[in-house]
Amino acid sequence: MALIDEKGKVYKKEIVDYSKDKSSDYILKVISEYIKKHEDEASSVGIGVPGIIKNNKIVYTCNLALEDPYFVRKIKTKLPVYLANDALCATIAEYKLVDNCKYENYALITLGTGIGSGLIFNGKVYEGKNGYAGEIGHTVIKKGGIQCNCGRKGCFEKYASVSRLLEITKCKTLSDLFTNMETSSELAKLFDEYLEDLSEGLANFIMINDVDMLVIGGSLAWFGDKFYYILRAKIAEKLFNRETNDVKLKFAKLGNNAGLIGAAFLASV
Ligand SMILES: [Zn+2]
Repeated sequence: MALIDEKGKVYKKEIVDYSKDKSSDYILKVISEYIKKHEDEASSVGIGVPGIIKNNKIVYTCNLALEDPYFVRKIKTKLPVYLANDALCATIAEYKLVDNCKYENYALITLGTGIGSGLIFNGKVYEGKNGYAGEIGHTVIKKGGIQCNCGRKGCFEKYASVSRLLEITKCKTLSDLFTNMETSSELAKLFDEYLEDLSEGLANFIMINDVDMLVIGGSLAWFGDKFYYILRAKIAEKLFNRETNDVKLKFAKLGNNAGLIGAAFLASV
């Protein structure tokens, strides 16, 4: 949680650990207290939710129990409250602040605990009829594969999320992984297999959406320069024209604050 100004500067950031209590009651309580404390300094409230949002309502959350149609109403504040998918919030922040809205068609995919995405078509946010346009994380890349929280088996996020990468490499953090990989061919091999799965889903996404720029966000983006060319080549070999230079791919710049900043911009989208 943070206060954000119109230029995207972050103030009074607070991080809350909800790993012990993921209930919507607890999360509502924490959010409401923060808003109350800073209500006089703000003009609106934006909330990024890891789930499907439609008409300012939480329709579905895969990894948290937040499906409460009255979520917004339960926040006692005089300020307007806007909800959006958290990956979409990050997309809006990168699109506006880093890329100055210069692309017509634009997408961001975040790699973290799961995989989320945000889409901008013709310069406008596109959420789809049900609010899940671009949900590449829950498309299947291995039929009958690993069981996902969403009910399907073999979802892309079960193979290409950062959680999965840390699981298969048995590393605690990404910096551990990249440090250890310099001297371990076994880790390098596992990472290459991970990039293979990642490129499979990203190539699917590009084939479907063919955007002007695809941005990769989330914690892995910090290490992007270590594998950019390999990933791009792996994607290119799965596309029709096999042209590496045609893969318009880059890594997000705003880091962990992207979702926060984008949520604050929701009032003006
Ligand atoms: Zn799934």
